Amino acid sequence: TEEKSLNFIEEIVEEDLRSGKYKTILTRFPPEPNGYLHIGHAKSICLNFGLANKYGGATNLRFDDTNPTTEETEYVESIKADVKWLGFNWAKELYASDYFEQLYNFAVDLIKKGLAYVDDSTSDEIAASKGTPTQPGTPSIYRDRSVEENLQLFAEMRAGKYKDGEKVLRAKVDMASPNMHLRDPIMYRIKHAHHHRTGDKWCIYPLYDFAHGQSDSIEHITHSICTLEFIPHRPLYDWFIEKLDIFPSHQYEFARLNVTYTIVSKRKLLQLVNEKIVDGWDDPRMPTISAMRRRGFTPESLRDFCEKIGVAKRENLIDYSLLEFCVREHLNKIALRRMVVFDPLKVVITNYEVGKVEMLKGENNPEDEDTTYRDIPFSREIYIEREDFMENPPKKYFRLAPGQMVRLKNAYIIKCEEVMKDEQGNITEVHCTYLPESKSGGDHSNIKVKGTLHWVSIPHAINAEVREYDRLFTVENVDEAPGDFKDYINKDSLHVVANAYAEPALQHAKFDERYQFLRKGYFTLDMDTSEEKLVFNRTVTLRDTWAK
Ligand code: ATP
Ligand code: MG
Ligand code: MG
Repeated sequence: TEEKSLNFIEEIVEEDLRSGKYKTILTRFPPEPNGYLHIGHAKSICLNFGLANKYGGATNLRFDDTNPTTEETEYVESIKADVKWLGFNWAKELYASDYFEQLYNFAVDLIKKGLAYVDDSTSDEIAASKGTPTQPGTPSIYRDRSVEENLQLFAEMRAGKYKDGEKVLRAKVDMASPNMHLRDPIMYRIKHAHHHRTGDKWCIYPLYDFAHGQSDSIEHITHSICTLEFIPHRPLYDWFIEKLDIFPSHQYEFARLNVTYTIVSKRKLLQLVNEKIVDGWDDPRMPTISAMRRRGFTPESLRDFCEKIGVAKRENLIDYSLLEFCVREHLNKIALRRMVVFDPLKVVITNYEVGKVEMLKGENNPEDEDTTYRDIPFSREIYIEREDFMENPPKKYFRLAPGQMVRLKNAYIIKCEEVMKDEQGNITEVHCTYLPESKSGGDHSNIKVKGTLHWVSIPHAINAEVREYDRLFTVENVDEAPGDFKDYINKDSLHVVANAYAEPALQHAKFDERYQFLRKGYFTLDMDTSEEKLVFNRTVTLRDTWAK
């Protein structure tokens, strides 16, 4: 078997294990619980958990919940469900907020070392004094406060003596550094806000740069993997760890995943939800994991996709079709074949006995070596797809037309004898005859037909609603399209077939089963299904039919 080459992070891990730098690795997946996870997070999950699985290490699920105003418990629950569904188990479920006391003590330690100070400047003043990448910043007039004064002021900040924005705690690094992130970055700000876990215990909250690396270190994370935009933060990540003299976690960066015709930003996805442009976070058109699950994507196909795209060091835009390809490839193996007519045309088989019902056999899945069979009732009156009949067909039309023969899948060859119309000239039904000796499985008619149609027996058909989805956006690169991203919403991304006719085997459709509706695509039961009505989502079309 072909050896797959290692990605650059695997190379680093293998070297670290080989050299004995670590005996075992520990990674983490650190979502901020401010929205539902999307396909980009799936990539990060597969990478972090995948490394631990491959090298016998472990992965923590750590909620990066240091910002009280945007975080909610609902998001925590959805994130846990999504990671599990993708097929991964975390070693520990942790919360950055559980480290607030420890982080506070770290900050006190830095103050004592003369490496942090309380600044009374406003955020505008701080921004203005930062300088530009080519010009050094101006030190704050509070930069040289004594350790004692800083300790007292910081304790008072914690105690709630000051209002939001009145003071911040800054690291004393280097106001002339060419790296703007090192120009005395803010470590703590005052925010009198309720936190989803710590309640009203705290009114000061650490910023990302002071929380993330320290959380990694507290947990003894060996390889802290994040996306490229954090490269300039790495010197600060290392600075805090060095000055605090704590476990040296290391940060590694890879390119975030972007996918054509969609967006991977929780902030923007939240706008679609809030403005009711979509029907919630799990609307099957969304790129969230919960939406993809509802739509019928499988964890296997998402993992396969993440594996196929690899781990890049440069920003890139992955074709949505690759994701669909992976979904199709898996569904082809597991989907049960069923027949559903979306737009019915009645066919009467005039030489078939009135009232007779015959049970035919249909393969559940020809891709399965030990395929099983389902019963399909056949009777004198059936539906075929309206688009499978043409009264005046062009040459090489192999579907049903006057005088022409087609095979009904799993059943018989029929021949069109007569077209019935109403007073306006609309075709109301088609009369056919069938060839009794042409039964599928025991065909001795010696007749070859080129077209095979799906169909359902009218008295046995069950009603179903079918939802067909298209791309959510009309442009490939939504992030780079000029103007507001919402200008590019595809207004035609949902097509509902309110009344499709399904073969009776679908009466007992299950949420964890996948179906291929013959000639139509892959489908799954939607959670809107009720006692009264079956609802199916089209997961993906059978082929890549999407025109560029
Ligand atoms: P968003 O911009 O959507 O809010 P985020 O990076 O702020 O994304 P986090 O909750 O902080 O979201 O992300 C958790 C982890 O997932 C981080 O390690 C982050 O780097 C990673 N991640 C987020 N988006 C992507 C992406 N598009 N591709 C790869 N990894 C991603
Ligand atoms: Mg983040
Ligand atoms: Mg974010």
